[in-house]
Amino acid sequence: MKFDVIIGLEVHAQLQTNTKIFCGCATDFTPDSPNVRTCPVCLGLPGALPVLNQRAFELAVIAALGLRCQIAPFTKWDRKQYFYPDLPKGYQISQYDLPFSFSGLVEIPADPAVAGEENALRQVRIIRAHLEDDAGKNVHDESGRGSDSQVDLNRAGTPLVEIVTEPDLRSAREARLLLEEIRLLLLYLGVSDCNMQEGNLRCDANINLHIHHDSGLTTKTPIVEIKNLNSFRFLEQACEYEIDRQLKTYGTMTEIHDRTKRTYGFDPARGITFEQRSKEEAADYRYFPDPDLVPVTVTREQVAHWETLVPERPQDRRRRYHSAMGLTPYDASVIIEQGRPFADFFENIVAHGADPKQAANWLTQDIQRILNERKCGINEFPVPAELVGLILAKVSEKSLTLKAAREALDLLVERSEEQSVSAATLDQIIQERGLAIVQDDSLLKEIIQKVIEKNPKPVADYLGGKPAAAGSLLGQVMREARGADPQVVKGLVTAALDALKFADS
Ligand code: ZN
Ligand code: MN
Repeated sequence: MKFDVIIGLEVHAQLQTNTKIFCGCATDFTPDSPNVRTCPVCLGLPGALPVLNQRAFELAVIAALGLRCQIAPFTKWDRKQYFYPDLPKGYQISQYDLPFSFSGLVEIPADPAVAGEENALRQVRIIRAHLEDDAGKNVHDESGRGSDSQVDLNRAGTPLVEIVTEPDLRSAREARLLLEEIRLLLLYLGVSDCNMQEGNLRCDANINLHIHHDSGLTTKTPIVEIKNLNSFRFLEQACEYEIDRQLKTYGTMTEIHDRTKRTYGFDPARGITFEQRSKEEAADYRYFPDPDLVPVTVTREQVAHWETLVPERPQDRRRRYHSAMGLTPYDASVIIEQGRPFADFFENIVAHGADPKQAANWLTQDIQRILNERKCGINEFPVPAELVGLILAKVSEKSLTLKAAREALDLLVERSEEQSVSAATLDQIIQERGLAIVQDDSLLKEIIQKVIEKNPKPVADYLGGKPAAAGSLLGQVMREARGADPQVVKGLVTAALDALKFADS
């Protein structure tokens, strides 16, 4: 059976403000002290008046600009009414027909299984991004003893940016890739911590199928919205399950009468989606402009200013690491996905003279190993990027071997426990340990002569036709001439021994 998968996402991200969107309550995560972050405004008490948090608006605009959206010159607030115990106002403050931003674009790698080729790109259009307040949280007793359900309103009124995409995704995998890319973007923009365990990034997936029958007829299955997916894996699993379910349910139908959009949940324990309710239409919410809040007007100058606060997007960095620095797309992604401080560290190393590929290898292997051992992030790495760059620059100009460079880095990390380390510390370490490549061949030749004189047995063995005997001589020379290039030493030792051979004969 031939079919196309049609998926669009609605992503909710909590904005990283200190206080809520319409009142002064703190937004810190306090699950153990319910209802301590509340006031008359976020409790929805009569007569309390909301005031927009300017920082929330700015962060939302930066998110929208990162998504390449247009910013509306005029935007307003609407009440979306519904009843639920975690919503004391009886309505959510959201944006209906005039969101603050619209028409964006995000690019992700297309799923090769759908695109039919590797390295194709999928352009995902963003319909809009709007601002709204979050609801509280119902806490149900799960002990089975039938205790009361409780409501915690600490989260009520937390600022959310909701990002709505066109249904441009063509597989469960692409849905996951898009959510990953949006998360990475918001992290680079610094507008949300995207902590999925705390529910600060969650997503709904709208999904249906276009089934192409042998008769040439195409049927479209009713759209299902899977709510509140709070992990990448759950999103992918839920979409996969739902694609299967719709195929089984509608695969052979050439006419589908009930086209009602439905709301589903996902049960991670069983890996299945299940129906919750038929979806409310917009009219069911009785949207109307919130009379308590003034609309917001935005000038071109303000937008121009906010544009300056948008850093380079992960997508653009990835491309630059590949095209300008020569990294493979894979290596570029590995660095970018570690987060902005990590990518900045990488660029800093390169700016201080390291070869980009060498820097990428070091970061993802040697430095990552040290970070794992010390259980810390790149921000706490004790050796500054400038110094790491300096070490690798010495490798590039062949004054350190890669092995000696590793030793120098380890020693710098060790010394950093007692003192702050600098270029002088590095020079000191290189000297003390004799790590520098011995550039001067005459010095090497002297060492080799001494080793040959002290070791008549292996020398005799070598001359007697046992080339392997050179190995022990080589080892001794390397120990004496630490930091020497092994290839150079090998050449010189062999030459010295062969000279003896010819002198003998
Ligand atoms: Zn409040
Ligand atoms: Mn929403």
